[in-house]
Amino acid sequence: MKALVGGTLIDGFGSRPIRNSVVLIQGDRIAAVGQLGTLPVPRDAEVISTEGMSVLPGLWDMHVHLMLNGHSDYAHWDKTYPPLFESTIMPAGAKQLLMAGVTSARDLGAPLPASIAVRNRINAGTLTGATMYMSGPFIQHEPYPGTEEFRWGVSGEADARAKVRKLADGGVNCIKLIDQDQMTIEEVRAVVDEAHRRGLMVVGHAHRPEEIRRGLAAGVDNFEHTGLASAPEYPGDIIDAIRERTADMSRGPLFWTPTIEGLLNYEYLRDNPEQLDDAAWHEGLPPHVVEDIRKSIQHPDRMSYFQLTPSRRPTLARKFKQLQEAGVVLLVGTDSGIPMKFHSSSTWRELDAWVNILGVDPMTTIRAATYWPSVAMKVDRDVGTITPGKYADIIAVRGDVLRYIALLQRVDLVVKRGVKYKG
Ligand SMILES: [Zn+2]
Repeated sequence: MKALVGGTLIDGFGSRPIRNSVVLIQGDRIAAVGQLGTLPVPRDAEVISTEGMSVLPGLWDMHVHLMLNGHSDYAHWDKTYPPLFESTIMPAGAKQLLMAGVTSARDLGAPLPASIAVRNRINAGTLTGATMYMSGPFIQHEPYPGTEEFRWGVSGEADARAKVRKLADGGVNCIKLIDQDQMTIEEVRAVVDEAHRRGLMVVGHAHRPEEIRRGLAAGVDNFEHTGLASAPEYPGDIIDAIRERTADMSRGPLFWTPTIEGLLNYEYLRDNPEQLDDAAWHEGLPPHVVEDIRKSIQHPDRMSYFQLTPSRRPTLARKFKQLQEAGVVLLVGTDSGIPMKFHSSSTWRELDAWVNILGVDPMTTIRAATYWPSVAMKVDRDVGTITPGKYADIIAVRGDVLRYIALLQRVDLVVKRGVKYKG
C-alpha cells in the first residue's frame, strides 16, 4: 500500500480542496481518501509526503497526435517516419505526456495498427506512457496525397458504414471526422450512426462553418478547435444550433475542445523561442530525428502554417466566450505534435492560457482536464477524480495550483494506476 500524505487535495469534483489530505493506494486503485487525524495511515504503507503540494487527478489531454512531434513539414514527416511510428515516435510521445503529468490522452489521427499496438502495450505495462484512447485514421471525404495510412476516404453511405465498422472491429476508442463539409450529409449521418451503434463517440473538426453545421445536424458528440480562421465570431445560426443541442439533456453534454493556446501564444513563441530548446521533447527520440525536427523549427516566423495566426488571435476570446455561453462543456486538448508543439509541454500551456489569458477560473480549468474528459470517454467510473475505487492516476506539484496554474509545468509526482513514474 502507498499513502500520499499531507498535501492539499483537489479531488476533481470542484468543491473546496481538502487540506492535510491522505490518499491510500492499494495496487492500481485508490483505497481511501481522507485527512490526517481521521484517516489512519497503515503502519506498513509506503508513505509519500505531499506536504506543501497540490494533489490532483492526473491530467488528460483530449487532442494529441503521437505520430507527430513538432516538426514543421508534414509532407516530409509523413514520407520519412511512418516506419518509426509504432516502435519509436508514438511511444516517445506517450512517455513525454506521462512525465508532464498527463496520465490519459486521446489521440486523434494515426495509422490503425500502430495506434492499437501502442495503446495496448502501455495498458499491458510493457511501455511507459499515458493511458491512450485512440481514434485511429481520420474519416474524411478524401485522403490528402501520401496520407492514406492514417486518413480514410469514404464514398457513399455504405462505404462510410464499412469504414467505421472496420475501425470499431480494429478496437478504436472513438471516431475522428474531418472535412465533413466535403462529404454528403448522408455520409456524415452514416458515420455518426454507425459509430453510435458500436458505442463510439464521434469527434468532429470545427474549422469551417459548414463542418460545424453538418456535424451538429448528424449528432457529432465533440467538436475540436476554435475555428473559422480570422472571422470575428461564430454566426448566429451556428450558435442557435449549438444552443438547441445543449438544451437537450437527454443527449448528454456537447463537448468542445478549443485547442486554443497555440494560437494565443504563437506571436510570443515566435519572438521568444527559447522554450523550443528545452530538451524535454527529445526524450525517447533518436538523435537524427531530434536534429531533423530542430532544423525544421529554426525560423518560427517563416512557417506558412502560422502566417494567419496573428489575425486569428484577436478573434479567439470572443469565439471562446460564445461557446461558453452556448453551454458546451469545454475540454482541455492541445493538438500536441503539430509544428513547435511538444508532448512534454503542450498540456499545461493550454490550462495556463485558459486561466491567465481567457479568464476561466482555475477549478473549472482543472476539471476540463480531469473530470469532464473521463465523462466524455465514458470511463468516469474508473478515472477522472480522486475517489475510492478508481484507478490511482494522481499527480502532485509543489505550491498552490489554484493560485498559480503554471506550476503544472513542473509536476513533482506522477502516479499512474498505482505505479510511481516520477517523484
Ligand atoms: Zn489535431
